[in-house]
Amino acid sequence: MIPSNELEKEIESMHSGSCPKCKGEGPNDLYTAKKVTGMILAVQWSTDTVVGCASCGKKMKYKTLLHCLFFGWWSPKAFLTNIFYIPYNLVSALFLTKSSMKPSSSLENIVCMLIAQNNMANFVANYRKDKKA
Ligand SMILES: [Zn+2]
Repeated sequence: MIPSNELEKEIESMHSGSCPKCKGEGPNDLYTAKKVTGMILAVQWSTDTVVGCASCGKKMKYKTLLHCLFFGWWSPKAFLTNIFYIPYNLVSALFLTKSSMKPSSSLENIVCMLIAQNNMANFVANYRKDKKA
């Protein structure tokens, strides 16, 4: 288990520290955009995410929007999805001006996940070391 004050500190530093992507000023948040790729007979849905400042979030959303504009039409299912994804991504990019002053719950979740992954990696590394010794 991660002590909760430790966790709060991590979340706070992730939120109000400088942007991990452009090293610009925070606050940072977790931003997502919906992506669809049509491949004639197949279709792939995914979500692009970035942890960073609002301007990096905006950039990512526009990039995903472009992807949908070019690659989102080429199967019937993708086409139907894209009718919704394109306005959704456009609106969410347009209205993204500044990260909220409080860490969002999605940012908190991603920090928890990163810490857990980190702990897991340490655990595995220590386990391997123990085995070798
Ligand atoms: Zn940034």
